[in-house]
Amino acid sequence: MDTNFERYKYKKQMQLSSDMESLNAEYNKLVSQLGERYVELNYDKDGNFFAADVVKDIREMDERIALLNQQQYAFYGIRLCEECGAELSIDSSFCNKCGANQSELRKEVIYASGKCPKCGSLVKAGDAFCMACGKKFD
Ligand SMILES: [Zn+2]
Ligand SMILES: [Zn+2]
Repeated sequence: MDTNFERYKYKKQMQLSSDMESLNAEYNKLVSQLGERYVELNYDKDGNFFAADVVKDIREMDERIALLNQQQYAFYGIRLCEECGAELSIDSSFCNKCGANQSELRKEVIYASGKCPKCGSLVKAGDAFCMACGKKFD
């Protein structure tokens, strides 16, 4: 074994790992600068996100759009799997494609389908229970 070469290799390795260490340190410094800038730009002095009200409105709008979408599908007796998006029959409690459990349908969705998801009886908007099987709509 050439000891000179071994020594060279060792030194080179040490050099590389120390270069890597300082690069990482610089990198982390930049990332934390980015974080500070972000906070400066986006939060007021009390730490409130400047667009919190708009974000809240958008979330509410997202929910309304999702509900409307569900009502449209329910009209055709269909619901979409909450996990994979597969089209399921409105009365499915789990997905026959991915197996995910489906949450209880909201009243508005059940009314849009016109049918009780449990027994298939006609459902009128405003009813809290299915008149045929007693299922509660929540
Ligand atoms: Zn699924
Ligand atoms: Zn029923």
